[in-house]
Amino acid sequence: MSELYTLHRGRTPLVVSAPHCGTWIPDELAARCTERALGVEDTDWFVDRLYGFAVELGASLIVPRASRYVIDLNRPSDNRPMYAGRNNTELCPTRHFSGEPIYRAGAEPDAAEVAARVVQYWQPYHDALAAEVERLRAAHGHAVLLDAHSIKGELPWLFEGTLPHLNLGTAEGTSCAPTLRETLAALCAAQDAYSWVVDGRFKGGHITRHYGRPAERVHAVQLEMAWRTYMDEAPPYRWDEARAAAVTPLLGRLVQAMIDWKPA
Ligand SMILES: [Zn+2]
Repeated sequence: MSELYTLHRGRTPLVVSAPHCGTWIPDELAARCTERALGVEDTDWFVDRLYGFAVELGASLIVPRASRYVIDLNRPSDNRPMYAGRNNTELCPTRHFSGEPIYRAGAEPDAAEVAARVVQYWQPYHDALAAEVERLRAAHGHAVLLDAHSIKGELPWLFEGTLPHLNLGTAEGTSCAPTLRETLAALCAAQDAYSWVVDGRFKGGHITRHYGRPAERVHAVQLEMAWRTYMDEAPPYRWDEARAAAVTPLLGRLVQAMIDWKPA
């Protein structure tokens, strides 16, 4: 096991990745951050806790230790924008989702430091995730990757309006087989407690787009969840047991469907 991530290896075709729920910032970097940044407010809070049940169902689960402020594991290592024409956060973010700076003036990482962080933090996570996807594909004939995220439902610097509770992303249907996308959408449509969309503002980031290769029997889906679905959207960003318990059965149906689904 690495000190950079934890990987639980399951016994089904599904691996759950939670690339933004780390909160650790190394000391030398913390010294260059603003006081506010040390609160790591843009964390995908509690996503590992929320999906803990998936391990019980036999899924693999990989979770990094480092904060997304150290490096964003869901961006390509060459730092090209994920959503053209929008405000985008960077591979090594220098701004909060609100647009304010993460670093003290003049303390932002330069290109050489960004490259070093790719080697130190980004590559090991992706090496482990790629190996796990390959292990599952070899064992089961195919693999399914769920990239699990959560975000504040209103972030004017990043997007307009309020996000639906559940935002499934399949890179416009290219990261997984149509039958998997339809199965998940049908489960969302079969309930009316939570708003949902497929391939809305969040269509899947680098992990979904890079690993999702249906022709190679790897099917990837991103689920971006609005925080209000299971926690408080205002500081101190508390887990809400009642809300989390209410949404877990639906999450369970989605995860079980990803486990049970088989390619045609
Ligand atoms: Zn995220």
